[in-house]
Amino acid sequence: MKIAVIGKGLAAMGVIESLQLKYETVEIDWIGPAIGDEGWPNCSRNSTAVVALHGIKEGLSPLGDDLYSAFFQTKDFIESFKPAGVTKVLRYHVVRDDADKLENRFGQLEKHSFFNRDYLCFFEEAYAFNTDIFLSWWFEKLSTHKGVTSYDDYIVDILSNEAIGLRDTYHFDKVVDARGSLFPDDLRPVKKVPGHYWVWENVEAFPVEENIVYTVNGHNLIYNKDESSLILGGSTEKDSILAPRTEQLLRQRESFLEVFPEFGASMKVEEASLKTGTRVKGPKRMPFVFLQNDNHIVVNGFYKNGYTLCHLMGQRVVERLSETVWYS
Ligand SMILES: Cc1cc2nc3c(=O)[nH]c(=O)nc-3n(C[C@H](O)[C@H](O)[C@H](O)COP(=O)(O)OP(=O)(O)OC[C@H]3O[C@@H](n4cnc5c(N)ncnc54)[C@H](O)[C@@H]3O)c2cc1C
Repeated sequence: MKIAVIGKGLAAMGVIESLQLKYETVEIDWIGPAIGDEGWPNCSRNSTAVVALHGIKEGLSPLGDDLYSAFFQTKDFIESFKPAGVTKVLRYHVVRDDADKLENRFGQLEKHSFFNRDYLCFFEEAYAFNTDIFLSWWFEKLSTHKGVTSYDDYIVDILSNEAIGLRDTYHFDKVVDARGSLFPDDLRPVKKVPGHYWVWENVEAFPVEENIVYTVNGHNLIYNKDESSLILGGSTEKDSILAPRTEQLLRQRESFLEVFPEFGASMKVEEASLKTGTRVKGPKRMPFVFLQNDNHIVVNGFYKNGYTLCHLMGQRVVERLSETVWYS
């Protein structure tokens, strides 16, 4: 049995991880533009990439239950393998004019002191990812496993038993299609939601001594002390237009500076570089796995939770493959 996996983002990686955990030997052709190739969109690279529980509780909705268990699965993965590019961070949801909303979501809020001022907050542990470092680490781990061959190629068509690439043609028994926002509309339209964020590198004199995420009005400011970097965002554009727009980021920056005026010197607009990723939003924000045909399984729709969901959804794909076809 030969499996072709198309795409080199989190969805593809979660599937390959799960195949390798379930089967001692499995032959995989892993096809997609190289992780570091900036010529092709890859949402997993262009992501603010924080994993936390965000106040999610069990027993309220199927998606909430999945996100809850996916969080602990990702936490276990991080604690077991200690991947490169992942940092444990303190995360403070800081109340502005939304105390009721935060209390509803998180429960009891507490006072925390920053810069000799008291703020009402909810505190949680979180993980922040340096996307390039982490994805390269995971790619290396998965692609050096027995049976995996990686190809840097772009697939232009998927037929019943072969995928036609720009460079070569790949034969398979089953294909896992993890093309993210480039999933073709003519197979099934998916909702694409671009998001922009700002990055400041080599931030000097940021007045905080820890790796930290502040969240104000639901938006993140992520400080990685070891890398001297700051990330603000992302935006959620309501159309699928990718062109850089910064209105939402300007507003988010203003909110942060109203709460923490001392950050202004490190967050100069003219020093920020803008990054853009395109998420795929499934119906009711749910990730999805479906059979395009008997040989072609699609995994997508991770929306804002790809770093949390990838391991769980990888398992779901492999379960689906096993149910219908695997060595049956
Ligand atoms: C601004 C922003 C902030 C975010 N913040 C967070 C966050 O804090 N926490 C979190 O968990 N998630 C976050 N996300 C969401 C997360 O990044 C995505 O859910 C996730 O990256 C989607 O992964 P994917 O593998 O489905 O898609 P992608 O990462 O886009 O991967 C698709 C892959 O398929 C390849 N491909 C496409 N077409 C072809 C083809 N024809 N042939 C071969 N290869 C092809 C692409 O090159 C790419 O490698 C954020 C996203 C954005 C945009």
